[in-house]
Amino acid sequence: MTILEHGTETCTGGPTLPQIRRLVTEVPGPNSRTLAKRRSAALPAGLTSGSSIYVAAAGGGVVVDVDGNSFIDFGSGIAVTTVGNSAPRVVERTTRQLGQFTHTCFLANPYEGYVEVCEALNRLTPGDHEKRTALFNTGSEALENAVKYARAATGRPAVVVFDHAFHGRTLMTMTMTAKNQPYKATFGPFAPEVYRVPMAYPYRWPSGPENAADEAFAQFRLAIDTQIGAASVAAVVVEPIQGEGGFIVPAPGFLKRIAEFCRERGILVVADEVQTGIARTGAWFASESEDFVPDIITTAKGLAGGMPLAAVTGRADVMDAAHPGGIGGTYSGNPVACEAALAVFETIEVEGLLDRAKDIGEILTTGLSEIASDTNIIGDIRGRGAMIAIELIHDEDKAPNREAVAQIVSYAHAHGLLLLAAGTYGNVVRFLPPLSISDELLAEGLGILRDAVTAVR
Ligand SMILES: *Cc1c(COP(=O)(O)O)cnc(C)c1O
Repeated sequence: MTILEHGTETCTGGPTLPQIRRLVTEVPGPNSRTLAKRRSAALPAGLTSGSSIYVAAAGGGVVVDVDGNSFIDFGSGIAVTTVGNSAPRVVERTTRQLGQFTHTCFLANPYEGYVEVCEALNRLTPGDHEKRTALFNTGSEALENAVKYARAATGRPAVVVFDHAFHGRTLMTMTMTAKNQPYKATFGPFAPEVYRVPMAYPYRWPSGPENAADEAFAQFRLAIDTQIGAASVAAVVVEPIQGEGGFIVPAPGFLKRIAEFCRERGILVVADEVQTGIARTGAWFASESEDFVPDIITTAKGLAGGMPLAAVTGRADVMDAAHPGGIGGTYSGNPVACEAALAVFETIEVEGLLDRAKDIGEILTTGLSEIASDTNIIGDIRGRGAMIAIELIHDEDKAPNREAVAQIVSYAHAHGLLLLAAGTYGNVVRFLPPLSISDELLAEGLGILRDAVTAVR
């Protein structure tokens, strides 16, 4: 654990860090600038970071950099440290596991933690059907394997995905991802048998939000029944709230209609809950809020408090269709990561974090609505729980305002607030605070955001 010197005070990382915003140098400070120089000599140019600070410690609702600056965290490392950075139960369980064994490879010599995580996910995921879970390392890997299970179970090749989707950066998941820049450009050719259909995106639906569900569903049905052929489709893969695409909440009822349509045709529905899952939206899974019961559900990000762990949970008959030895990986379901996930489940239950996510959602939505009432560049406020976004526009015509997002994010960083951008058009700011953040830091962060929006030229 990193030991930090703050003048006279010495502290470790995690939630014991002082829960304050404090800038003691310019941003980035001299130590971060030195690291940036070493980085550019050692790392490829295309590996970029959203901020220019280098992290020394993080916890509660703050991230502290190598110059001693303390930032308010509205990003959670992209929705990963949902229970907080170095959350006490995560630290305790992983530390204990580190002293017992760090790896045996579950495929070679199994252990209890893996089984326990699978039991928990089978219980917590939507639907009361019999389920099975397999563990992996990353979200992309979970999606890759969801497709393998779906193909093995149906004997069909095609995978249907949506506009604005993000499913990862490996060959199959990069193909499934919608956005060309930066995810796909120059990296083709892509995997075959991936088909894209419109998302019921209320804010930008051409004939108005009230028509989004009906018309998007009609196009979805037409594409599958007349172009792709339902008998060729193994799975439809959908994020219940699209993450990287800009926190697009599908028009109400759209997901349920997709599920019904697919059930009638023997197509499996995969909910990609890598970003929305594990308490982020105020429920264990975003699918629950829509009464949407997928056949397969993928999780990662918030699953293990920052340790790399991902999962595919699905109907027992679907998951059992893959043959022995066909699925797995050297590191999949690492024992330390499994202990972290068990600590995450316990923390969410004991600390009532589902309710906390809802509270944070209300605080953010109220604060953002106030900010929006004084400007004409915030076109939409959307999301659920601690997963909220604003879409920035040029006034009147709804044209995406990417420049405003760049200015807001950079103003916020310079003033001690860590923010993330998103969106197909790069014109969305997303708010993903850790659920361990205090009300005071949320309010202070919203204040900086207000100044940032006001400063946009
Ligand atoms: C981040 C993300 C992925 C990819 O996860 P990695 O761990 O980065 O491979 C897949 N799907 C969604 C919805 C995501 O947000």
